[in-house]
Amino acid sequence: PAQRKHASRQRFAADLSQCLYDLVIHLLPTLEELAVKEDVRKLLERLIRTIEPDSRLLSFGSTANGFSLRNSDMDLCCLIDSEERLSASDLVVMLGDLLERETKFHVKPLPHARIPIVKLTLDPAPGLPQGIACDIGFENRLALENTRLLMCYAMIDPARVRTMVLFLKVWSKRRNINSPYKGTLSSYGYVLLVIFFLVHVKNPPVLPNLQQMPPLRSISPEDTHLNGYNIWFFDDIDLLRQRWKSSNTETVAELLIDFFKYYSRDFNYTSGVASIRSGLLKKESKGWVSEHERGSPRERNRLCIEDPFETDYNVARCVTRDGLYTIRGEFMRASRILASRPDRALVAIAQLCE
Ligand code: ATP
Ligand code: MG
Repeated sequence: PAQRKHASRQRFAADLSQCLYDLVIHLLPTLEELAVKEDVRKLLERLIRTIEPDSRLLSFGSTANGFSLRNSDMDLCCLIDSEERLSASDLVVMLGDLLERETKFHVKPLPHARIPIVKLTLDPAPGLPQGIACDIGFENRLALENTRLLMCYAMIDPARVRTMVLFLKVWSKRRNINSPYKGTLSSYGYVLLVIFFLVHVKNPPVLPNLQQMPPLRSISPEDTHLNGYNIWFFDDIDLLRQRWKSSNTETVAELLIDFFKYYSRDFNYTSGVASIRSGLLKKESKGWVSEHERGSPRERNRLCIEDPFETDYNVARCVTRDGLYTIRGEFMRASRILASRPDRALVAIAQLCE
């Protein structure tokens, strides 16, 4: 019986892996969508240059890190290469006015947000059935770097890493646990949970720790630090692909099953911090003790995920008590569905994303 059980588990995992690949392929953005987005970026860049001639508009987030689904929003960052420049909030106001006048976008400038941004949306049109949603921020160089880090992780083992991440994004959106404004977790947070799992939990690891690998040649601190944060990581992906061969041979389905098991059962939410740079840390050692316990109305450190560069920043700070309860409930539900191994993997996926 043990052998039969093992065989049935293997069969299910193989079947599920295939289904996950098939599903994800169909959810990737089309070439047409990517082209339209690139045109939008160029158009916006041209307009911004009428205000700040020395500026560049760069993509970050999912459009640039390899974890993009069809119709995902565009995250853009404006970098200004001149010494004298307007403040971010002034730029937000001016750019807001300009775009309102010159384009068909609906424009919402948020000059007083923690990170001032202009929010844009474009109504659905024939070639663009879902419209476009786009945020433009300024000088957010750390976001460009963390986008590059995630992209490198995606490129080391695209079949397993991208499939897992994209599936989790679909799943978390379908299950309504992907809204930082409503107390649950951003996509960025879920991606970090996956990478943490593949670097630090899986043994043997599926991914190397790019931030802890020794550099090929010595580099000066000025080149590795930005706003006081160490942003160095091993980014020579061609070389890495030659040198890094994970001895972990699990299929994407086995990894996914284990991912849900780990976050529903093993991760210590009360005291643990998931850090892709340093592995599992303690909330106490980071001073991220739960503010709710001290009677503060602010909920901050229910779930702790350390940003890869801004290490004093908890990416999951928006997650509330109820939000965490729901997220953990969803991890458990997913784990239960996958453990029950329905006859067909497709049924499992449908149930997961119901
Ligand atoms: P989606 O396709 O759902 O939009 P995404 O990959 O673009 O997913 P987002 O959560 O929109 O992910 O994040 C985009 C970028 O914004 C990230 O790469 C990161 O640089 C930055 N970011 C998002 N959320 C946070 C956060 N809580 N803390 C810090 N940076 C964040
Ligand atoms: Mg995004």
